[in-house]
Amino acid sequence: MPHSYPFLTPEQKKELSDIAQRIVAPGKGILAADESTGSVAKRFQSINAENTEENRRLYRQLLFTADDRITPCIGGVILFHETMYQKTDDGKPFTQYLKERGMVVGIKVDKGVVPLAGTNGETTTQGLDGLYERCAQYKKDGADFAKWRCVLKITPTTPSHLAIIENANVLARYASICQMHGIVPIVEPEILPDGDHDLKRCQYITEKVLAAVYKALSDHHVYLEGTLLKPNMVTAGHSCSHKYSSQEIAMATVTALRRTVPPAVPGITFLSGGQSEEEASVNLNSMNQCPLHRPWALTFSYGRALQASALKAWGGKKENGKACQEEFIKRALSLKHVFLMLYLVVTCCVLWASASWGWQPSLENL
Ligand code: 13P
Repeated sequence: MPHSYPFLTPEQKKELSDIAQRIVAPGKGILAADESTGSVAKRFQSINAENTEENRRLYRQLLFTADDRITPCIGGVILFHETMYQKTDDGKPFTQYLKERGMVVGIKVDKGVVPLAGTNGETTTQGLDGLYERCAQYKKDGADFAKWRCVLKITPTTPSHLAIIENANVLARYASICQMHGIVPIVEPEILPDGDHDLKRCQYITEKVLAAVYKALSDHHVYLEGTLLKPNMVTAGHSCSHKYSSQEIAMATVTALRRTVPPAVPGITFLSGGQSEEEASVNLNSMNQCPLHRPWALTFSYGRALQASALKAWGGKKENGKACQEEFIKRALSLKHVFLMLYLVVTCCVLWASASWGWQPSLENL
């Protein structure tokens, strides 16, 4: 067995794990504001707003400049390339503005999905060419983490072995390139919620996909302490006739994660994947109350589940800016309360246990 030639110094490892820890510090999660221009077109169409560069800047500016109630909730913000180089009305780069508010700046670096030949409509994700150079530039320009999304779908014949292996490998290759530049990779193997499959099948497929992802990350010598995972929650397909409770979803999700994600990974930041704002917040809450031991932070990296009401309230109109920000703050606070309650309960238990038995908390116990 060949050994691994060290590619990260202890200082580089520390930088990566510090960044990851800051993003998922207690009570914090990620605002995914990295919709491509095409995805923004769909969102803006729903509110009859024109999809211009200036409108995209104005809308993102509203989210980023929401008042200080959001600072304890948002650890990181994922940007799209265009947004990375846009500025506030006062001429301050968004990247600088976000950093001054204590938020870590992230960048979407994949270039979207392309067909995987010989499969039943499956895809891989492109964007590796030139990624080494792009990461070097993004780091200089203020990005400390990145995102790369792969997509898998559940049907009677998918995901195929090829799609699982190919997507795991491309995620691992991306992750190792990011780490060479001091960028924490968010690894996102999204299993789509389309279809009529039940909860058990989604759990089974999620376990197979995540197991392949962590095998590939190991093969590519990725430093897990300096990564974050962005998975789907384990849910039944949208067309499944049976409706599952949030407790069932939480048990299935945490079980799948416990079987496949090493404890070295500091945080799991779920995507909302088309769930309503309410569902995404209730399910995350149940996950954090689930009786199974969880060695990683479980938090959010939501796009639609943080923005849907805010976007609607804005409606593309300047005079609705304040209403838009209030909706965004409301969503962010509702997610933060999930963690605060949990944090208080755990802290009380620890204090009680140490007072009663002289018990000392260790990282393992927490
Ligand atoms: P949603 O939370 O809207 O699924 O978006 C998150 C994301 O970044 C998908 O890649």
